[in-house]
Amino acid sequence: MIPIAKPSISEEEIEAVKSVMLSGNIAHSKKVDEFESQFAEYIGTKYAIATSNGTTALHIALLANGIGKGSEVITTSFTFVATANSVLFTGAKPVFVDIDCDSFNIDPSLIEDKVTNKTKAIMPVHLYGQAAEIKAIKDICEDNNLILIEDAAQAHGAKYDGKKVGSFGTGCFSFYPTKNITTSEGGMITTDDRSVYEKSKKLRNHGQEKRYYYDALGFNFRMTDICAAIGLCQLKKLDKFNDLRRKNAEFLTKKLSKLNYLKCPKTYPNKEHVFHQYTLRIKDGRREELIKVLEQAGIGYGIYYPLPLHKQPLYIELGYKDKLPKTEKVAEEVISIPVHPLLKKEDLEYIVSVFEEFK
Ligand SMILES: *Cc1c(COP(=O)(O)O)cnc(C)c1O
Repeated sequence: MIPIAKPSISEEEIEAVKSVMLSGNIAHSKKVDEFESQFAEYIGTKYAIATSNGTTALHIALLANGIGKGSEVITTSFTFVATANSVLFTGAKPVFVDIDCDSFNIDPSLIEDKVTNKTKAIMPVHLYGQAAEIKAIKDICEDNNLILIEDAAQAHGAKYDGKKVGSFGTGCFSFYPTKNITTSEGGMITTDDRSVYEKSKKLRNHGQEKRYYYDALGFNFRMTDICAAIGLCQLKKLDKFNDLRRKNAEFLTKKLSKLNYLKCPKTYPNKEHVFHQYTLRIKDGRREELIKVLEQAGIGYGIYYPLPLHKQPLYIELGYKDKLPKTEKVAEEVISIPVHPLLKKEDLEYIVSVFEEFK
């Protein structure tokens, strides 16, 4: 069985965890501070705030930017549920905009129609490891006085015009085991804004101003030193992991682009894709047929995501009635196949051979 995702853990991470365990400082301490400063440096922001996971990073990033009851946040429906749920947690309303079918990301040309006097922020997702059209989105933010919050949970190290995602607005990352780097569970907020940084740090730790004094309703969304120690090892290897993902993707595209029942993921000269997922579109309603073949062949796959958020029972219940034709169409066509750094040449060749046989 070739798994769709596999975390790359070596002796180094195991030793790092062991040394934290033996130190006695096993909750939030020095390793978290070190991980934050190295992550900020990697992304190219002044500050980074580590959290317990990517969802809590989004939740706090929204609150720290003043998003709450009565606000609207424009985002995509073609994403993991945490993107929009984090908006709901704050009391604000996610407003969905359709995607561009080639990039799978929010279509900036449709955003301005959805801006109202309640709109406070735009939250693009850099889906599958590829930057959204961040320049156009940033322009809309500036023209309409909106905040930019990037869901970069799948895009550690991805670039737009040579600049890393997560550095354009407030960035939110996840270190779940399937992501490009992991801390087991974990998340990170990145920002250049001192006030967002200070509010985030406070909200992460019970709204504590000084020890046992509270001036805001905060949470316990802290990362532990055990997780941070894993993250520090992983961060050193992130560029290497991303290079391997890109090489694997290049190989797959070279071979699979010859097949006419599918469409390979599109890349753009000004965007450095980090292939969190390698996602194909299967034409003519043949996805189910292909899935059976992959299952038989022992090739892992994933459908990210089979049901767009505006169609989820939770959102229907909340009154969502959007029609997002491109999102809905693409959700029926996508399939992601293994692209992770632990794939061997034989695995890639085997995957290609199975796709070539499927006629
Ligand atoms: C993984 C992910 C999240 C949530 O991160 P967790 O660490 O699982 O909480 C949010 N948004 C997107 C797009 C993700 O892929």
